[in-house]
Amino acid sequence: KAQVNAVNANLLTDKVILITGASDGIGKEAALEFARQGAHVVLIARSQDKLEAIYDEIEATTDTRPTLFPYDLNTLNPDIALEMAQAIQQEYGRLDGVLFNASILGSKTTIADYPAQQWLDVINTNLNSCFYLTQALLPLLETADAGRIVFTSSGVGRKGRATWGAYAVSKFATEGLMQTLADEVKDSSSVKVFAVNPGGTRTQMRASAFPQEAPETLPSAKQHMPLYRYLMSEQSDHCHGLSLDAYDYL
Ligand code: NDP
Repeated sequence: KAQVNAVNANLLTDKVILITGASDGIGKEAALEFARQGAHVVLIARSQDKLEAIYDEIEATTDTRPTLFPYDLNTLNPDIALEMAQAIQQEYGRLDGVLFNASILGSKTTIADYPAQQWLDVINTNLNSCFYLTQALLPLLETADAGRIVFTSSGVGRKGRATWGAYAVSKFATEGLMQTLADEVKDSSSVKVFAVNPGGTRTQMRASAFPQEAPETLPSAKQHMPLYRYLMSEQSDHCHGLSLDAYDYL
């Protein structure tokens, strides 16, 4: 915890980091924080307007060079993931980190009544997009000195809970993807792989999941940034394969 919270200016200088779900909540905060730390950020989300506002803020306040991919990850496939990897290679010639953060909640419905199309949408967005992008981006990450992949988990990705449906299942699978990949690359690659469970955080998704909750009782996305920037840095090698709770680092 002390290491994570130690102030390190420009920890991510000149790294290139892709962030999915970068238009709002935790992903937006990570985009701004990584850019403040010197990284060139590549931002994916559906909302072009929100991404452009973040682009403008980064351009106005840092010397870094962001790139936007306004894209719906529900429709991603291996070919498009490869095109994204090629575009990053062309623009920057490198990739140092990926934060898989985009997710949708889906219905709060029992498995018995869960709508089948929504099941597919949630699994595609939250899980399959991570698989396609991991396959496409791994070769590029492996050429970095200290490649990083941070997956985003949840409390319901470790213990199932009634009515969390496809979201919970997608998070269990995300933990599995992280662990499997971590084991595969542990001896052969400089890439380190982690998962983070942010825990209840003051965002739109949390407000939708818990409409009765007072948002001011929750930590902000910004409060989690020391952990995220630490994991993206060269100091986090020893965390390889771990699933971390962001609350432990507040
Ligand atoms: P938000 O709903 O605030 O933000 C989600 C982001 O994902 C937005 O930028 C959204 O952008 C993007 N996104 C959603 N669907 C798609 C899609 N189909 N294609 C591309 N981008 C998409 O969520 P949080 O910041 O709260 O959550 C971030 C991560 O943390 C998620 O993985 C979530 O599961 C996890 N988490 C959050 C907790 C919390 O309390 N907040 C607790 C536990 C885990 P756009 O709409 O523009 O596409």
